[in-house]
Amino acid sequence: MEKKIDRALVADCLKRRFFVIPSFEIYGGMAGLEGMEKKIDRALVADCLKRRFFVIPSFEIYGGMAGLFDLGPPGCALKRNILDVWHQHFVIHDSMQEIDASCLTPKVVLKASGHVDKFTDLMVRDVKTKLGYRADQLLEDSIDKMLQDPEMAEERKKELTHIRARAEDFTPKELHEQIQTLGIKSEYGNELSEPYPYNLMFGTQIGPSGDSQGYLRPETAQGIFVNFKRCLAFNGGQLPFGVAQVGQAFRNEISPRSGLLRVREFTLAEIEHFMDHGEGKHPGFDAIKDVKCVFYPAVNKLGDKKTQECTVGEAVERGYLGHETHAYFVARTQMFLERIGFERHMIRFEQHLPTQLAHYAADCWDAMIYCSYGWTECVGIADRSAFDLECHTRGSGENLKARVVYDKPIIEEKLVPKLVKGVIGRTFRREAGNVCQAIEGLDQDGLKAMMAKHAEKENSEVTDADGKTFEVTPAMVTISKKTIKTSGHTFTPRVCEPSFGIGRILYCLLEQSFYVREGDDEQRAVFKFKPEIASVKCAILPIYASAEFNPILDDLVRTLSRARISNKLDRSGSTIGKRYSRLDEIGVPFIITVDFDTLKDNTVTIRERDSMNQVRLPIADIVGVVSDLSIGEITFDSVVEKYGLFK
Ligand code: AMP
Repeated sequence: MEKKIDRALVADCLKRRFFVIPSFEIYGGMAGLEGMEKKIDRALVADCLKRRFFVIPSFEIYGGMAGLFDLGPPGCALKRNILDVWHQHFVIHDSMQEIDASCLTPKVVLKASGHVDKFTDLMVRDVKTKLGYRADQLLEDSIDKMLQDPEMAEERKKELTHIRARAEDFTPKELHEQIQTLGIKSEYGNELSEPYPYNLMFGTQIGPSGDSQGYLRPETAQGIFVNFKRCLAFNGGQLPFGVAQVGQAFRNEISPRSGLLRVREFTLAEIEHFMDHGEGKHPGFDAIKDVKCVFYPAVNKLGDKKTQECTVGEAVERGYLGHETHAYFVARTQMFLERIGFERHMIRFEQHLPTQLAHYAADCWDAMIYCSYGWTECVGIADRSAFDLECHTRGSGENLKARVVYDKPIIEEKLVPKLVKGVIGRTFRREAGNVCQAIEGLDQDGLKAMMAKHAEKENSEVTDADGKTFEVTPAMVTISKKTIKTSGHTFTPRVCEPSFGIGRILYCLLEQSFYVREGDDEQRAVFKFKPEIASVKCAILPIYASAEFNPILDDLVRTLSRARISNKLDRSGSTIGKRYSRLDEIGVPFIITVDFDTLKDNTVTIRERDSMNQVRLPIADIVGVVSDLSIGEITFDSVVEKYGLFK
């Protein structure tokens, strides 16, 4: 094609309109990177997950690799459907931007964000074999073993349970003391080292020269922060706004365990909601303020240990949640989890204790879901304050601030300092800049106090950013009242971040959806996924394998696929009962059966998975009915009402 394409023009538009940009652009870019208490039988679920190829250990034929898993067809389709609902529920609902940033991240970015120095877990090593253990988990596991002793006195049990509950909060010194006092050794009976921080990021070299150190990202968030300036411009410079990203995150967990719950590579769906400081108002708050959730605030964790059920509006009033925006995301998260099939009583929101907070978080509430491993953190909803943008402003030298322009300028009388720079310079020399900044940074009360002292011919004091104090004489500054007109303010935005661990959500949903049905001759496993997220919406079966059904079967597959309804044709020779139970085991909600009557009158039956009820209806109605059932527009009961129960 000899059409002339002006690459430079296209590239310019792609960058200007934020289609695609060099990854970590604010760091100068990076070449080559474009950037409840319900009883759950875990063993039964695990058997079904493996047998039906929902999820299996990665590299299984080579013996597998701890902390890595592959999703087979039903698992993969479920994940896709969960993410589709997530996208609709958050990104579309709130007109968020979505980006797709690089997984490979240069060191300079993660150094600035604090991950190189602080993204650590405490580890102990077997002093002989050098094997590593996550210190808090080793303590928990060892206590669990001790608690199995039937002879143990109740008092001692209580004491150990209390220590176990605090395992995550202990300092390295406290952990060491507990490990020593309880006589905990490695699995080989050897002594353990003192706990020390172990960085969880996978390091790598970017490019062939080996001098550009990088990491696989431990969270997707940083890819959003480094693009903040462009996202803000894309939003017309207006706050608040949200930016979403779905992608892989990598953490070199010391002891991957609990199946899909603690793995080394997982999918995160994250939102960074950028906002002004103020009161944390959210425009959608009114619509969700009556959503009821179960809360477990930090004070209760330390005190009476009770959870509290209340609306998110009440949670803000009681001071559990710091502001409306945090409440908004807590409520929307609960609604999302219920929408994909979790029962409300299996969800609760737990606040981090100050010792549990990540290095970037000012506050954090986790959505915990109950599964066979106990209450499990599946979503972290953090108030990251302005931490990350401030870090990247320092790291990259880029101005990552936003400006809010008021509807009406504010006119007020204010004290304003006028510096006598000559005197300050002569007195403080190299530190003069810091002194000027410290005086200019004083608030109105500080200026008032300084003015009062100077009026008495006394010196005053200021403190610079490093905490050093300087004596300021009246000759260095004059403070006077002025009428100031302010049309807006410039600031580093604050961030509220809901972060969804899709693998954990998927696993908990698999466990929660699983049940066993007593059959005539055997027990049958069933996954009761909601039609909206089920991997396949319907199956199509001939009553038995016979070529005469083929034209109708092929036609049904074609029409359903054309209507974008995922379907699965099973014309194997197994009995209809066997085929039903195979499909129940992968959670297919509706099964269409073609039989001899179909050949006569063009009708088929549809069977609903959980009630096992069937109706008979014209083939011409199938697409409409299955489509409406799949998106939850109608219930199967209403289909029974319309067509009558088929016996
Ligand atoms: P965090 O950034 O540590 O708050 O993690 C955010 C979310 O990622 C958590 O709520 C979990 O759902 C998920 N997550 C964190 N670490 C892992 C892991 N090792 N394996 C699977 N999911 C994880």
